[in-house]
Amino acid sequence: MPEPKYRRILLKISGEGLCAADQSGIDGTALLALAEQLKLVVDLGIEICVVVGGGNIVRGSVIAKDSPIEETTGHYMGMLATVINAIAVQDTLESIGVPTRVQSALAIDRVCEKFIRRRAIRHLEKGRVVIFAAGTGNPFVTTDTGAALRAAEVRADVLLKATKVDGVFTADPVTNPDATRLEHLTFNEVIDKRLGIMDVSAVDLCQRSGIPIFVLNLRREGNMRDVVLGKGIGTLIDGGA
Ligand code: UDP
Repeated sequence: MPEPKYRRILLKISGEGLCAADQSGIDGTALLALAEQLKLVVDLGIEICVVVGGGNIVRGSVIAKDSPIEETTGHYMGMLATVINAIAVQDTLESIGVPTRVQSALAIDRVCEKFIRRRAIRHLEKGRVVIFAAGTGNPFVTTDTGAALRAAEVRADVLLKATKVDGVFTADPVTNPDATRLEHLTFNEVIDKRLGIMDVSAVDLCQRSGIPIFVLNLRREGNMRDVVLGKGIGTLIDGGA
């Protein structure tokens, strides 16, 4: 078995990754598939944190459109949605024997811990998967930015950005059979060309923190483990040569 390329990783998964195809809400089969992928990496002795989105339940900008709900309130609703997802991921991981903690950027003491950086790092060192909920705790940004922020704070070696396809392509691979996968991009290329892989603020923060981003398909079995072992399929984004 090759030596793992990374020792501490942060996985960003959108709320969409927790529901069945073309559905909203939360799906047990999707949760278990995610947990099994994570367990393969936990079993390598890798420290893992997870940032979950909330788009399968609420997105602030969407819910506030044509509605009496203020946009700021909508964003708080979105952050609360990520807490719902986080505790769903927690129970699923624990159902297959993976110890976890949920830490939230918004205080919800009866449900989970609040985010305390040093405590999060301690949990990781003890082999617990730490699930970060409520994004940054601030409205008007998304959980991509929350993921970059937490990755920088816990000094993750890489930010894994889960998508439904095998990385970044020259065109949409779902609709365009000629689309080819890009093995490597620089942070500047992603920002300058506005490739929309993650929020620009998230990419910028990873660049400034020197944390590479690896875009991968979590629905490809064992791919996250393969990425950690340096042989997975996806697109690496870093500072370049
Ligand atoms: N959100 C926010 N601040 C944050 C993170 C999230 O206000 O730091 C809100 C925002 O409205 C966002 C929603 O929570 O649309 C759900 O998060 P996101 O859209 O990132 O979920 P995903 O698309 O990853 O499922």
